[in-house]
Amino acid sequence: MSKLVISQKIKLAVKNGHGCVRIRVGNVTIGCDQIVVMAGPCSVESREQVLETARIVKAAGGHILRGGAFKPRTLPYSFQGLGEEGLKILAEARDETGLPIVTEVMAPEDVELVESYADILQIGARNMQNFTLLKRVGRAVKPVMLKRGMSATIEEWLGCAEYILNEGNPNVILCERGIRTYETITRNTLDVSAVPVIKQLSDLPVVIDPSHGTGIRSLVAPMAKAGVAAGADGLIIEVHPHPEKALSDGDQSLHPPEFADLMRELAPIVGAVGKRL
Ligand code: PEP
Ligand code: MN
Repeated sequence: MSKLVISQKIKLAVKNGHGCVRIRVGNVTIGCDQIVVMAGPCSVESREQVLETARIVKAAGGHILRGGAFKPRTLPYSFQGLGEEGLKILAEARDETGLPIVTEVMAPEDVELVESYADILQIGARNMQNFTLLKRVGRAVKPVMLKRGMSATIEEWLGCAEYILNEGNPNVILCERGIRTYETITRNTLDVSAVPVIKQLSDLPVVIDPSHGTGIRSLVAPMAKAGVAAGADGLIIEVHPHPEKALSDGDQSLHPPEFADLMRELAPIVGAVGKRL
């Protein structure tokens, strides 16, 4: 059988013989036999929007609430996020629903603040190789979800996980969120093959982001199912109570009933791969 080859300089992120890493977040376990669904709006826009979405995610069976308070936007004129006010809103939604929170941290100097509210620190695609930020979250107590850079090879991505692990934080979740290719119909090309590649090289959990991976609402459910079938440990999905009014990524955000349908449709696929939802 042919063997995947990875640089021997990557030591910590490679398979260690334990099979899989379990990461505990509140009452949720990520990795191994559990499929974890993280869902919520792209951006935290208002208290009402987040609380409404959190209730929808919880009712549909989602496990973790997502939402950005610090937003990496292509243009400086676009909505940049509510900052700490957004973090407070997320914390209120967690208090009400019990859902742990995943949210992005963009700068080393914000890690202490974000960590005081969040349950998982998200490193965005644009910051995958921000080594100062990676080293800082490597000294954080909270787990880190490391998104793949849009032009990163899998080996470069694992090298970035290595930076975090090397500072002493063992709780790294990888997130495949699509890469830049010559294709223009989709926003990115979701590299589903990254899932089995990572599974062969590493014990770290890997989740699929079909929202950024496609950029198109109607493609989110099929690619979410493909991700689970390929062996992903979870999904991160954008859901908005009124996607047409969203301040970011409305085109790829599911309407609440679509998210509930997806959760139901995932069940047999999760069962087929021998996992629990
Ligand atoms: C996000 O999750 O909203 C986000 C900005 O993702 P990415 O870093 O993958 O573009
Ligand atoms: Mn988004």
